[in-house]
Amino acid sequence: MNDWFTIDKIDTKTYVISEYHHPEETHCYLLNGNERSLLIDTGVGISNIYDEVINLTDKPVTAVATHIHWDHIGGHKYFSDFYVHSAEMDWLNGKFPLPLETVKEMVVDHCVLPDDFDIDNYELFQGVPTIVLTDKNIIDIGGRQIEVLHTPGHSPGHCCFYEQGRRWLYSGDLIYKGCLDAFYPTTDPLAFMRSVEKVKALSPQRIFPAHHQLNISVSLIDEIVNAFQSLYQKGKLRQGNGVFDFGEFKIHI
Ligand SMILES: [Zn+2]
Ligand SMILES: [Zn+2]
Repeated sequence: MNDWFTIDKIDTKTYVISEYHHPEETHCYLLNGNERSLLIDTGVGISNIYDEVINLTDKPVTAVATHIHWDHIGGHKYFSDFYVHSAEMDWLNGKFPLPLETVKEMVVDHCVLPDDFDIDNYELFQGVPTIVLTDKNIIDIGGRQIEVLHTPGHSPGHCCFYEQGRRWLYSGDLIYKGCLDAFYPTTDPLAFMRSVEKVKALSPQRIFPAHHQLNISVSLIDEIVNAFQSLYQKGKLRQGNGVFDFGEFKIHI
């Protein structure tokens, strides 16, 4: 039994696979359709997520990433069928903007590693996707349609996934309780604000973040929109301005 992952059932066809032993506290989501399953993000890659997924579905599994950061693609190597947004294709083909040594430091950062994990063998996932995603694509897994929402800002190809039937939003690194990051050169604070406004306009009923606290209210979207807009109106929404603390979340630009 692998105790690296924690699995919670959201409904009879939807699971969250969490990694609470790593400070990133990632959440991956498995959506079971009538024909296949969709895995949104594959975690930090320290332990084998595939062995968990096959206990939760008997259908073929397609993996998608909210974006190509190491903590969202760690288990992609187990899934030959995966999709990525066009703006981050390059990052899976030798052009990821951080050196491997920096990524390795983040992988092992403040985390009790399983005995069988050897950081020397860690590699940043690289590969060729089966489908390249663009905004408003619909992923149909049989009885469930999941819309791709291009929501850049945290990264150029960041996507949220929206299931209209349930009005559920899988928000990746766009909305969560913690420090929202738009300080790397590859981020864009203004685009981040526009993306939060874009998901707010959908009025989702539930929201499922990629990090930290799982049970968050959709009202957090409004709070994050308001925070970005207040920074924008004061002329402070510019990279290099530091960390702004709004209580339940921070904005690092
Ligand atoms: Zn990220
Ligand atoms: Zn992340």
